[in-house]
Formats: sequence, structure tokens, C-alpha cells
Amino acid sequence: YSGKKSGQAITDTMTKWKVKDFQSVPVVIQEHISVYDAICQLFLEDVGSMFVTTKEGNLSGVVSRKDLLRIAIGNQDLTKMPVHMMMTRMPNITVCHKEDTLLSAAQQLMDRQIDSLPVVKQSAKGLEVIGRVTKTTITRAFLALSEEHDI
Ligand code: ADP
Repeated sequence: YSGKKSGQAITDTMTKWKVKDFQSVPVVIQEHISVYDAICQLFLEDVGSMFVTTKEGNLSGVVSRKDLLRIAIGNQDLTKMPVHMMMTRMPNITVCHKEDTLLSAAQQLMDRQIDSLPVVKQSAKGLEVIGRVTKTTITRAFLALSEEHDI
């Protein structure tokens, strides 16, 4: 044997994996809640970033832990500032879809230097958040690859 066959098998597995096979549950907050409450939520949910939606449930932004730290070291009253004032907002949000390959999602994370991507679905009323892909998702897939191929 050369290593070629197993190398091809690994490539086949990697290109077959879709976002929907590995996506996790998104943490979503509404854009009118305060920065203070967003920080509490970040700790409660134990995540690095959260997706922000309008009251109707459409994706409007992303807040990361560093976004929240940046605001928290300023002098603002965090209980009075709504999260939509400081989030990264649409249309500058990088998203993915459940049928995308996991490989393309990983490429987006690296290209944009971000930790997470919302998985979205276009509905009649707007962009709905149905999942998330993070660097942890990619690490989990990396380990699954070694299990599937007895590495
Ligand atoms: P952190 O800032 O905590 O290290 P990230 O690296 O994910 O977390 O975020 C870096 C910046 O990019 C932040 O300002 C954040 O709001 C923004 N960001 C995070 N995820 C996305 C995304 N999917 N699309 C666009 N911007 C994003």
C-alpha cells in the first residue's frame, strides 16, 4: 500500500461533510436588550459570541466577547445602551447555509478572522438564524475525521 488510498478517503470524507452535519445551537439575543444584559447572557450561555436579531427574529448583527469588553472599559452606562448600538451589523455579517460544505465554512472563518458564523435560512420575512458554526465545530470535525479513518 501507498498512503494514497487512505489520503483519498480522508479527502472524500472532508468534502462530503455539510454544515448541517456539524452545526450547533445558536445563542440569539434581541437587538433592543442592554449591553449589560448581553454580557450576562454571554456568561450564562458560555459562548464567545452571540447573534442579534430584530424583534421579528431576523438576523441584524453579531456581538463578540471583545466587542463587549471594548464597550465595558469605556464610561458608558451599560444598562442604558442597547446592544444594536455597538454590534457588528448587517450587511457586514458573514453567514453560511446548512447545505454548504463544512470546509467552505472553515475557509470563511479563517479568511474573515472570526470565531463563528451564523447558519441562516432565507424566509419570506427575512434571514432566520438556525444554527452556528464555530472554531470548536471545526475542531470537533477534525477529531471525527481521525476516528472515521483510524488515524
Ligand atoms: P472576538 O472579537 O471576541 O475575538 P471574533 O474574532 O469572532 O471574536 O470577532 C471579531 C470581530 O468580528 C468582532 O467585532 C465581531 O463583532 C465581528 N464578527 C464576529 N463574527 C462575525 C461574522 N460572522 N460576520 C461579521 N463579523 C463578525
